[in-house]
Amino acid sequence: MTNLIVLDFDGTISPISTNPLNVKVSKKMEKSIIELSKANNLMILTGRDSNFVKRFFDSKKIHIVGNYGNKSSLKNKESLLFKKTIQKKIRLFDGVTLENKETSFAIHYRKLKTNKSEFYNWLDSIELCHKNKFKILKGKKVIEFLSKQSISKKDFLEKYLSKHKFSKVVYVGDDLSDILVINFFKNKKWFTGFLVKSKEINSNLLTGIKCIARNEILSNINLVLTS
Ligand SMILES: [Mg+2]
Repeated sequence: MTNLIVLDFDGTISPISTNPLNVKVSKKMEKSIIELSKANNLMILTGRDSNFVKRFFDSKKIHIVGNYGNKSSLKNKESLLFKKTIQKKIRLFDGVTLENKETSFAIHYRKLKTNKSEFYNWLDSIELCHKNKFKILKGKKVIEFLSKQSISKKDFLEKYLSKHKFSKVVYVGDDLSDILVINFFKNKKWFTGFLVKSKEINSNLLTGIKCIARNEILSNINLVLTS
């Protein structure tokens, strides 16, 4: 049996950028990932649309799974209306943007400089009002609204790994959706999970999780695969 390497995109193989459309993958990282994909199955599992990641990697050799593995679109009347309301409101906050994705929409606020408390109060209120209508994911300075039926990375991988068997699975991520995956599989003999270090994750959530720096990802993967 072969091995599977699963990598998250933002914050993992690419550093977080203040503008989510401007992220970059370093040449060194790109080369190493392509090299790893020659001898192993390699999947990039991300909340991004898959087409975005395909700009960086050849999807024939690397299995790119976008939108956390979701396929259904979020285009019902209610969500379009909610999105319009958000679009209007965020004009009041400098540095806040709305990202339209195939299966969700997300508010990015990494560049928010002023009216912070007003913004956070508004964010809390829309979260409270809409938590029964949407699945809400909170990332690093981003909040995302998905359909109630949408799946998480953990749900996607659980189903995928029940159908495809590997000798070893190595998973690398950086945020809460990745912690969920790592905690779910961590007692499986064939699974190893790593989290890329970040100040933005509450350290209480990291118990029992191996944290590494971005420049240690490849050496740690190789160590697992050769042990
Ligand atoms: Mg990430």
